Amino acid sequence: MKIATASVLGIEGFIGSIDVQIGHPHVPPGGLELAGAFLPENASRELRVRVRGSLENSLALTLSGKGTMAALYDVVPSRLTSLDLPVALGFALEDLGWDQEQLDRKNLLAVGELSLAGDVRPVPGVVPMLLAANKHGFEYAIIPQGNLEELEGAPLNLLRPIPVANLKEAMDALRSVDIRIYSRDMSKVQRPEGRTYSVDFADIKGIDDIVRTVVGLAEQRKSILFVGNPGSGKTMLARRYVTKMPVMTPQEELEVRSIYSVAGLRPHSGNLGRPFRAPHHTMSSRALLGGGVFPLPGEISLAHNGVLFLDELPEFQRGVLEAVRRVYKEGYEVHHCSKLGQDVCFPAEFVLLGAMNPCPCGWHGSSTRPCTCAPAEIDRYKSRVEEIVKVFDAVVEVPPAAMWRKT
Ligand SMILES: [Zn+2]
Repeated sequence: MKIATASVLGIEGFIGSIDVQIGHPHVPPGGLELAGAFLPENASRELRVRVRGSLENSLALTLSGKGTMAALYDVVPSRLTSLDLPVALGFALEDLGWDQEQLDRKNLLAVGELSLAGDVRPVPGVVPMLLAANKHGFEYAIIPQGNLEELEGAPLNLLRPIPVANLKEAMDALRSVDIRIYSRDMSKVQRPEGRTYSVDFADIKGIDDIVRTVVGLAEQRKSILFVGNPGSGKTMLARRYVTKMPVMTPQEELEVRSIYSVAGLRPHSGNLGRPFRAPHHTMSSRALLGGGVFPLPGEISLAHNGVLFLDELPEFQRGVLEAVRRVYKEGYEVHHCSKLGQDVCFPAEFVLLGAMNPCPCGWHGSSTRPCTCAPAEIDRYKSRVEEIVKVFDAVVEVPPAAMWRKT
């Protein structure tokens, strides 16, 4: 029984299939083997345990008797967990004596991780997987219930997801006379109207000229370094920047949805606003740039089509700032090499915003508190950001909060 599935590399989805054969001559009775070009031993062992458990516990099916082989075709090397559901369904349908044509008529694919009890758990990357399925002309996609929300607003055209909570529900849908009633028409999902952002420049009063400058720069997607004393409102201004950027194009929105889906972050549904990411200065370069055995997007890719805000700029490690600077000036994308040697690319076209105090103690130039820094300390502080400061289009000096919040 050959059942279609999907996998993901970077933010691109790929269509593959799994051929499940009960009674394979090379598999001992009761065994379940996986065959494919890439199969990390422990991941494949875990997959077999989950499939076996869910078949027994959810469908009362045992693998005893003849040995079973699941051969993977055109599945790109990535995490195997999303293959649990198609392997289990392939076995169950084969066991029921379905013929291939019976399944092919349904024109569907399946992705999902299984628990030992047979629950279907969400998997990362369902958005790009289903975009690929749509391109290939599939009519239905059996997916984990927990992945449905992230598909709201994704351009799936005629492809209809069938969300399932467990293996039994997936089998019920497959065996029903009319599979359509189990599916969802995502084009009919109501998207929330109104404001996309929870913040607004209207909340800031008393520094109208600075707000005007920042709004003007945001409309042109120019990068800004905010300089001011602690509590002067640098972060308030930075957070509102995205609200004045142009509305995302459908293509930009699709890229953002795909990145968040692959990162396993959700929901990014409904009225999608531009991302605003503000990683802490202690964040590792891995978390900032992404990477890993099966590479995941980092903060700079989660900021794609939106804003990356580096607060306390001089506190970031020099190497991290240099990497951000390089991507910002030269790349617009980050490449990672996976454990299996593939080049995995994530887009990273963001607007860089930064914020810093005028000196290490923070109070240089303030009329309310004295600065305790020696001139040499201030020089050293500024020299830490010498290189990255050059990439900003504008420096905006924010006056002490005491001067504007009273008005
Ligand atoms: Zn100082």
